[in-house]
Amino acid sequence: MKNLIAGNWKMNLLPGGVAGYAERFLPQVRDLAGVVDLLVCPNFPALAPAVEAFRNTPVAVGAQNMHQELSGAHTGEVSGTMLHDLGVGWVILGHSERRHIYGETDALILAKLKRAHELGLRPIVCVGELLEERERGETEQVLRRQFAESLAGVGSELLEKTTVAYEPVWAIGTGKTATPETAQEAHRLLRNQLEEKIGTAAKGIRILYGGSVKPENAAELLAQPDINGALVGGASLDPDAFAAIARAGA
Ligand code: PEP
Repeated sequence: MKNLIAGNWKMNLLPGGVAGYAERFLPQVRDLAGVVDLLVCPNFPALAPAVEAFRNTPVAVGAQNMHQELSGAHTGEVSGTMLHDLGVGWVILGHSERRHIYGETDALILAKLKRAHELGLRPIVCVGELLEERERGETEQVLRRQFAESLAGVGSELLEKTTVAYEPVWAIGTGKTATPETAQEAHRLLRNQLEEKIGTAAKGIRILYGGSVKPENAAELLAQPDINGALVGGASLDPDAFAAIARAGA
């Protein structure tokens, strides 16, 4: 299975800066086509320029969130239909910032996941424990709950088409990376849950690691047997650093 290296730009970079980013990034990754899958997830206003800048390149474009309804009176929200219409192929759902800052629940994330699949968008669903939960020894329990309530309810067939991202909240944007062993342990737990649900097909599901991935630590994280790619925040804002991580994933 090819690694997926995905960049989450969060609320950073301007729509007007996308073409310059692509110009710098693309020459460094052109030869990775077919070896590693690449994805950038810009903010909503930067999606259209990103679709344009990465057309006919090895880089796919995804959104960082979407609303679960198709349309309607939801001021300030963006629907999956709008993403699809723009030519966006992927969407991140249930990022820890959505869960913990904006109060998104497992049930809401599941509703978004169902909608994304219905529209043919490729979803990446994030799970991960808080520092307090890890310190209380609750990591497995949290991952089991998030898996059961925000992922498994989609049914086996669609679960097989879902990408999972393990992002321990204490490692996001903090500079603290999970050690490769700690990350592998959590990824194994998630793989086991996938196996319980869909049997051997679980082997084909990508589980990305996210949490302060940088060019310096990417290779050893990606060498773990159950880590199938990375979801990169801060380091994806720099096209050179993101290209170095992409190369580590190849
Ligand atoms: C993220 O937000 O998905 C993330 C992993 O951020 P960072 O790489 O900055 O820790």
